Amino acid sequence: MSETPNNFIEEIIREDNRTGRWGGRVHTRFPPEPNGYLHIGHAKSICLNHGLAQKFGGKFNLRFDDTNPEKEEHEYVTSIVEDVRWLGADWEDRLFFASDYFERMYELAEQLVNAGKAYVDDQTDEQIKETRGTVKTPGTDSPCRGRAPAENLDLLRRMRAGEFPDGSKVLRAKIDMASPNMLLRDPLIYRIRHAEHHRTGDQWCLYPMYDWAHGLEDSIEGITHSICTLEFEVHRPLYDWFLEQLDVYRPQQIEFARLNLTHTVMSKRKLLKLVQDGLVDGWDDPRMPTICGLRRRGYTASAIRDFCDRIGVARAASTVEYALLEHCLREELNLSAPRVMAVLDPLKLVITNYPEGEEELVDCLNNPEDPSAGEREVPFSRELWIERDDFQETPPPKFFRLAPGREVRLKHAYYVVCDEVVKDEAGRIVELRCTYDPQSRGGGTPDGRKVKGTLHWVSAPHALDAEVRLYEQLFSDPFPGVSEGCADPLDCLNPQSLTILKGCKLEPGLAAAEPGHSCQFLRHGYFCADARHSRPGAPVFNRTVSLKDSWAKEQKKV
Ligand code: ATP
Ligand code: MG
Repeated sequence: MSETPNNFIEEIIREDNRTGRWGGRVHTRFPPEPNGYLHIGHAKSICLNHGLAQKFGGKFNLRFDDTNPEKEEHEYVTSIVEDVRWLGADWEDRLFFASDYFERMYELAEQLVNAGKAYVDDQTDEQIKETRGTVKTPGTDSPCRGRAPAENLDLLRRMRAGEFPDGSKVLRAKIDMASPNMLLRDPLIYRIRHAEHHRTGDQWCLYPMYDWAHGLEDSIEGITHSICTLEFEVHRPLYDWFLEQLDVYRPQQIEFARLNLTHTVMSKRKLLKLVQDGLVDGWDDPRMPTICGLRRRGYTASAIRDFCDRIGVARAASTVEYALLEHCLREELNLSAPRVMAVLDPLKLVITNYPEGEEELVDCLNNPEDPSAGEREVPFSRELWIERDDFQETPPPKFFRLAPGREVRLKHAYYVVCDEVVKDEAGRIVELRCTYDPQSRGGGTPDGRKVKGTLHWVSAPHALDAEVRLYEQLFSDPFPGVSEGCADPLDCLNPQSLTILKGCKLEPGLAAAEPGHSCQFLRHGYFCADARHSRPGAPVFNRTVSLKDSWAKEQKKV
């Protein structure tokens, strides 16, 4: 273990271990509510909680905080399990559901009632809200506040038995209607909802509120450090109050600043809206900040973990540049992704002095960063595809690629000179006629003459047709939902966030690419065969990230 703690939570744990507060135990949890898919913000929490358990030889639980029957679905449970596992956080045999503790929670509520610390209130939600007071004025006591424990107990049991309709009664903690912390003004413990729960069915019509449930879940599981985001700081006195009243094990809540990323939103409600309104292709749309979206885009779990490591853990809120996330991925893919040639906007190039009907295989290095990746053979022939914008009829200064009369190198193959430009009736260039130097095989010549441009290419008769999808940020504003001009994120959706290119030409070796296969298209960036739409032989590739590293560039400036 390194000597210096990485963040303030590690400091707390070290101190706890020094004083023996938890007997040297470290037990964390990730407690998602199954009401949406996980996003990159959740990844930060997962990496933090799991990372701490690992670092201190402790335990990590995955626990579904499934206390709200109305918004929760089994589909979300399945996706969350998959995503946490994919990220590499191992909960071993500790996958839990808050709904499994409903009975125990209810028992403890009866204890609270018997101790005179909770009461059944007949007021409506509206009335309760109105009598809570304001930050400046105290609240007013409910007429039911003085009910005797025996009456409260009877009512609570009848609430549980289903005697009362939704909203007609609640169980409230009896704390302090004048507390400066509004959350302590007799907060709700249970409400009545005759609703079907995704796991307990219609067994319950009483559902626990977050503040009541969460601390008990942590307590039941023996959590030591209950780590949550900063907005729960004001809830901590309540978290502690409940546990103090009951004679139960008491974990410690610690808050950290949530992750915000530029150019995206992290609220499950807003992400759900994008999905429901059909503005994206599902939760796993490659533009979504969801874990499954990032995975489909071609992100690796290790790049996401690296990102979470680098952004660190603090108590001050901040927004991280999306470019840093991309930078982490690029650094990894640069080392791991095999290089291939792909032409996205094809223009025919015919080598007039190359024998018709002939072909050969040229050796191509798979990854210049990784000699162990070896080489592959790529077919070369008389007719090739090159990138349309690699040719200019009247080249501007500093354009070093192909132009009439100019010689360039075809990557891994030969030098070619452009002799003739063929156009159709509309004046559009349809073909370049070139000659090659047979002595330049492999990219150099005996006379050592230099060329300034190197183009990638694909042999036309061997080419594999593909669809390629290019992405930009989903939102054009860096702070959607926050910026003045973009109060509603839906108002600043980037109309150019998806470009679909058909008829792209790939080197034939990619015919076998399985969905999820990742590689670098030379000069175009890193790409990944789409998990939904790509099939061997009929590939659809997503651009994961371009090669231009705006993060690294910015870092150099400062
Ligand atoms: P909501 O409660 O609005 O449905 P949520 O994103 O808080 O949304 P949870 O399922 O409660 O969803 O989150 C599970 C855990 O992930 C919580 O501990 C929460 O604090 C943490 N978390 C959520 N968003 C972020 C974020 N952006 N950065 C870091 N941690 C986060
Ligand atoms: Mg939450």
